[in-house]
Amino acid sequence: MPAAKYWVTKRCAPVTVEAAECLGGNGYVEESGMPRLVRESPLNSIWEGAGNVQALDVLRALRREPSALHAFLQEVGRARGADHRLDAAIKDLLTELADLGGAEGRARRIAERFALVLQGSLLVRFAPPEVADAFCASRLGGDSGGAFGTLPHTLDLRALVERARPLG
Ligand SMILES: Cc1cc2nc3c(=O)[nH]c(=O)nc-3n(C[C@H](O)[C@H](O)[C@H](O)COP(=O)(O)OP(=O)(O)OC[C@H]3O[C@@H](n4cnc5c(N)ncnc54)[C@H](O)[C@@H]3O)c2cc1C
Repeated sequence: MPAAKYWVTKRCAPVTVEAAECLGGNGYVEESGMPRLVRESPLNSIWEGAGNVQALDVLRALRREPSALHAFLQEVGRARGADHRLDAAIKDLLTELADLGGAEGRARRIAERFALVLQGSLLVRFAPPEVADAFCASRLGGDSGGAFGTLPHTLDLRALVERARPLG
């Protein structure tokens, strides 16, 4: 839970800023409602428990309740074998968790990886294949840039756009 909270609140601000940019100048004027969302978006990773606190909560849960890790691995294990990038990410996460001594300095990295692996496993199991493929390539396989709009062109980008396009 704190891993999901950590990552969702961290992603909120960049997603909101990009959404405002999609509307161009209209996204900048108050009448669009976007400036309020942009202003409010950083608040999520403060009042919901700041980023470091959420990430440290992940470590606390791992140490206090080892069964939580077991349950997590069981859940993501249901997607094992479906995508090699997801399999590699699960393996990397386990390597990361092998020694939790002094892990506080890696807390954000660990929390992020938990969230990404869970996201990937759910998408591989339940999302359209082109969506899972794009996620695994960019978020798990590292094949993307630092900004939105940098997915590799080999993906089925048309299907992704069509899926997001409003009906009618
Ligand atoms: C608009 C707004 C509304 C709110 N409403 C409510 C409400 O209704 N009820 C309520 O109870 N509270 C409310 N709060 C308070 C909110 O819960 C706190 O702001 C939040 O928990 C963060 O605590 P803090 O402000 O003391 O920041 P701090 O905890 O001092 O955090 C400051 C920075 O230090 C970092 N940090 C803190 N501890 C550690 C640590 N151990 N190791 C490393 N880094 C650390 C944090 O990540 C953060 O970057 C509200 C806050 C805001 C801004």
